Amino acid sequence: MTDIVVCFDIGGTLIKGALIDKAGNILYKESIETCTSLDTKEQEASLVKCTEIFMNKVSSDMNVIGLAMASPGVSDKNTVLLGGCENIEGMHGLRFSDIGDRFSLPTKHENDASTAALGEVVYGAGKGSEYKSALLITLGTGVGGGLVFDGHIYRGSKGYAGEIGHTCVIPGGLECNCGGYGCLEQYSSANGYIRNARQRMHKKLYNTILTEEDIIRDKAKSIFDAAKKGDQLASDTVSECSHILGMAIAHAMNMLDLDLVLIGGGLCKDFDMIIPHIDRALREYGLLLSVPLLTIKPASLGNDAGVLGCAALFFHA
Ligand SMILES: [Zn+2]
Repeated sequence: MTDIVVCFDIGGTLIKGALIDKAGNILYKESIETCTSLDTKEQEASLVKCTEIFMNKVSSDMNVIGLAMASPGVSDKNTVLLGGCENIEGMHGLRFSDIGDRFSLPTKHENDASTAALGEVVYGAGKGSEYKSALLITLGTGVGGGLVFDGHIYRGSKGYAGEIGHTCVIPGGLECNCGGYGCLEQYSSANGYIRNARQRMHKKLYNTILTEEDIIRDKAKSIFDAAKKGDQLASDTVSECSHILGMAIAHAMNMLDLDLVLIGGGLCKDFDMIIPHIDRALREYGLLLSVPLLTIKPASLGNDAGVLGCAALFFHA
């Protein structure tokens, strides 16, 4: 018999589900549309249905040891979702363990960014090494973050730890969705790179191969593609936005004595172009003794980091 965990990474549009064993093998996976109802009971019914779908995929040689879920927001020790889940507001107040109870399964819930960080440390880019203090930064439309200390998610006092995207990098800078100003998310997310390139285009100070059509079609990838071809505007954007990211990483490293930083999300495909500017910022802002001891790598699990982190909640707790 193989012990497995039923894992759900709940996003605003899709629930990624998987059956995963202790070694991190994904034995079955399927994505299901997220319920959009604002009613908590309907959300619960939808997750029960999801769980049924996956329980029906459990074969006779598998032994289900638990149900693990990751979602935006934070939950208390009773797995009640307390807040921070604006994209799936109907889940606010949901007790995830009520779903597990229907199947007589123990249930765990964690924030999705924190869970992805655990997945990467245990099964992904951090696998096989004894990192004490790790940070995963996901660069997508926003900037997410999760902390793993000594192999465990660090939640902070209320569960919000790791929100590096909302640390201020430019005092009095751009207004952020969180209500603050000058947050990292405004500069070093995919949208941050796009805004920076557009501002340079509007000033018309460059001869550039980058066009508005490229940006609309390929988003931030268009900027990295142009930079690879030697385009100065695109290279300056990559330099500035990545350097700001490096400054935030230096601050986090100085504060937390990090030994591993993983860069995930869509932009990690262009890690090789980002890293020289992060290194430059680390030399400028990082504590001299810490910088040589810090490993920075691209994340390796892609969209599976969340479900694998869910499995780690049971297998590596
Ligand atoms: Zn913010």
